[in-house]
Amino acid sequence: RIVYVNGEYLPEEEAKISIFDRGFLFADGVYEVSTILDGKLVDNAGHLARLQRSLAELDIPAPCSMEEIETIQHTLIERNAIAAGSIYLQVTRGAEDRNFLWSEGLKPSLIMFTQSRGAKMDKVAEKGLDVISQPDIRWQRRDIKTVALLPASLAKRKAIAEGANDAWLVEDGMITEGTSNNAHIITKDGKLVTRALSNKILHGITRKAVLALAKEAGLTVEERSFSPDEVKNAAEAFVTSATMFVTPVVSFDGVKIGDGKPGPHTTRLRDLYVSFAKKSLS
Ligand code: PMP
Repeated sequence: RIVYVNGEYLPEEEAKISIFDRGFLFADGVYEVSTILDGKLVDNAGHLARLQRSLAELDIPAPCSMEEIETIQHTLIERNAIAAGSIYLQVTRGAEDRNFLWSEGLKPSLIMFTQSRGAKMDKVAEKGLDVISQPDIRWQRRDIKTVALLPASLAKRKAIAEGANDAWLVEDGMITEGTSNNAHIITKDGKLVTRALSNKILHGITRKAVLALAKEAGLTVEERSFSPDEVKNAAEAFVTSATMFVTPVVSFDGVKIGDGKPGPHTTRLRDLYVSFAKKSLS
């Protein structure tokens, strides 16, 4: 695989980052993942807009223009001949001798790599996910897409150890989001309920598109917090993310949701999102 590091396209074994990089020492960096379909990017403008917001919130200067980032993305997709998969990009504040207080004027690092999509993802979407609850022990700025993903990794590992596929995180008795996705339910009276945007969750690019599609399709959307009990009593549940699109959740903490199979609203929203994704390619 050819990867990108600070201006160079290199075989992955040759790519190097300083051990003093603040991304490595302090998780002082942000990232984005865009999905590749037909060799092009899904809803990439949304991801680059969020990248700019994450950088601004942390006072990290952009390493280059967003147009240059797009050029690098397309070059990597082409050089790795990826038709379906994803592209990861990460910007860190840069490298200097370890110090909590950073110096002004550091040169940010930019790295990118592609990943090809396994057939596994489609099978998961057909079957649906088993999800368990886990306490949300993350920091209070989850709206910034930082590389500090250890709490989410630990929750995911716990879910797998318990025979589930993923965890939904709970804070103050309410669901925040999934470990790497936004969480949604469809109530028995047919409303889509999803947590409102705040510092408590990542502002998902897929979430935004799916909510717009749901409204267009005539669904009532309620942006409010919901509890684990509401999930167990829901008609349907699903997650959204750039790599999972709309994926059904069929059980929560061992309790079947609805009849324990992907429901009609979720299936419809997935189809609508797939059509949207194809139209959004750039
Ligand atoms: N929440 C979290 C914590 C995530 O890590 C992700 C995916 N990176 C999402 C939500 C979904 O965001 P998006 O739809 O932009 O991929």
